[in-house]
Amino acid sequence: MMILLKDMRSLSFFWDFRNDAILLARNGRIKRDQIQQKCRYRAREMISDRLSARSIDCIMKPRVYIETLGCQMNVADTERAATNLRASGYDLCDSESEADVVLLNTCSVREKAEQKVFTRIGEVRAARPNDRRLKVGVMGCVAQLEGASIFRQAPSVDLIIGTRATDRVAALIDRVRDGERKVIDLDERGQHDSWEVSPVERHSPHVAFIPIIEGCNKFCSFCIVPYSRGREKSRPAAEIVEEAHRLKNLGYKEIHLIGQNVNSYRPGVEDGLEGFRGATLFSRLLRAVAATEMPRIKFTTSFPRDFHPDIITAIEENANLCDWIHLPVQSGSDRILKLMRRGHTRADYLKRIERIRASTRKLALTSDVIVGFPGETEEDFRETLSLVQQCDYDSLYIFKYSKRRGTPAASFTDTVSEDEKKARFLELEEVHRKAQREVYRSYIGRKLSVLAERKSSRSESDLSGHSTCHKVVNFTGSSKLEGEIVDVVVTEAKRNSLYGDLVERAGVA
Ligand code: SF4
Repeated sequence: MMILLKDMRSLSFFWDFRNDAILLARNGRIKRDQIQQKCRYRAREMISDRLSARSIDCIMKPRVYIETLGCQMNVADTERAATNLRASGYDLCDSESEADVVLLNTCSVREKAEQKVFTRIGEVRAARPNDRRLKVGVMGCVAQLEGASIFRQAPSVDLIIGTRATDRVAALIDRVRDGERKVIDLDERGQHDSWEVSPVERHSPHVAFIPIIEGCNKFCSFCIVPYSRGREKSRPAAEIVEEAHRLKNLGYKEIHLIGQNVNSYRPGVEDGLEGFRGATLFSRLLRAVAATEMPRIKFTTSFPRDFHPDIITAIEENANLCDWIHLPVQSGSDRILKLMRRGHTRADYLKRIERIRASTRKLALTSDVIVGFPGETEEDFRETLSLVQQCDYDSLYIFKYSKRRGTPAASFTDTVSEDEKKARFLELEEVHRKAQREVYRSYIGRKLSVLAERKSSRSESDLSGHSTCHKVVNFTGSSKLEGEIVDVVVTEAKRNSLYGDLVERAGVA
């Protein structure tokens, strides 16, 4: 049995246990990654009999496992933290059982998600009860909101990393490893923090997230985000455009411009937008990013009040701006929208939908709705039902309202019983499903441009990817097509996905 001791560019040192010898491998003649994955943690235990702890740390980089819960912003934060860790000499691993440090990147949008974090902390510790080397940290929204109280609720936690501390993760772990107890960082981002993400840390080799705005100023009464993520802060356009260029040169086929409200984008400077017209800074940014010729550009999430019709004009002008809009409405009742402090009415929202539907391109539309908000009457709910019928959404994410501690709505009297919330959820879901079936069926016979992202989980011979209109599309094709944009003719509409035939063409099929 051999154990990887040290890994240096093209050279690797292995310890051959049977012969008690150190071996040298050049350019991975031994399957390096496999050995690392399977043996690393065990190796530490085995060689610790022979070497001091200090020498073990010298020859083996500490390994960090980051578990990501929640939204795309958390995925982007994990990528950034991983970049920082790798640059500081840490290794990242894919399983908590191999890790020296386990970080839980958390979501606080619902109270249940928050409770889940404490369950996970218990599970991680219970799996290795006698391992004193193991360090456990909480990062992300729960860390930012709950702060030091996490140490009281879960004394086995060693460090707490707030939402703006992703670029300081390595330094914080260093402090814990140096013996400091209970390390916490809830501070703001540093002035010179870098948004750079190393390609190896990206969640996909074909699709990349580019955060363009962080935080939220809207303070909807049910939402915790303005407290966990702070106020809106937009990245300079020049940086975003440069990142898009870089990703294109690296071979990425699709980027998602992400943020809690992308269309509220307001950087303090206009650098990078010179020469790009538009009614808002966001629509100018869309045009500037489209000019990089990145094959596919998506953006999410859009806030209805800030959704200017010029966004649609920009999509009509640029084929690489994808034909998909996610525009959360939350309720169809003006009374409830006011209680939610959404800042838009039903009529405002429908006006925007009218423009989307009148576009020269067929645009897919998705949304979010909350049912059972405090004070929602049967009549209010009927208004939501009728709005959903009117909008013919391609997809709808329906949530039953649940109180979120720390938000204004938490003090409202919850007038809708759990049974009623469930009944409204099911009724709305049925109405939406009916419309969605028709929307999906309307794609049968149409040719969609699909980015083949991975092998399908259902069949070895199938590939799975997304269309420009953000539908999951499965089709039979060789794995050589992974990472390619191909044309697929839709033959079948399933509940949440489409199935189709690859259009054979030279060099692709
Ligand atoms: S717009 Fe409202 S729902 Fe969206 S993140 Fe901001 S506060 Fe939350």
